[in-house]
Amino acid sequence: MQETPVSAITSYHAHIYFRDDAERKVAMEIRQAIGECFAVALGRVHDRLVGPHTAPMYQVAFNVEDFPSLVPWLMLNRGGLSILLHPNTRFQKEDHLTTSFWLGDRLPLINTDQLEDEAEPEGRVVPNTVPTREA
Ligand code: ZN
Repeated sequence: MQETPVSAITSYHAHIYFRDDAERKVAMEIRQAIGECFAVALGRVHDRLVGPHTAPMYQVAFNVEDFPSLVPWLMLNRGGLSILLHPNTRFQKEDHLTTSFWLGDRLPLINTDQLEDEAEPEGRVVPNTVPTREA
């Protein structure tokens, strides 16, 4: 087995999907709660399909040290939505397809040939939220 050190992970993404108006409403409630509880980079809400994603979604970028608090929070509070969690390493394609995991329904990914096999890793996440309460 080719072993990869954990230090290869520079940050993580959570992609939070919504497939109809009811799910969009839940997704926006989750988005607000994440912003209140965690220092993360909340991405724009994409109502149209972007990148490899097959449902509207928004991205939450977070630093390695926030994994043990944010991911369990998402487990408990995903409101039935599908969430893709993936590490960011130099290998975007593997990050999305091989070393990722899903909460809820697994959705297909498309156009994955546009993901780079080996890219510059994303650096530390610069949060655009300031927590105001405990998770
Ligand atoms: Zn991502």
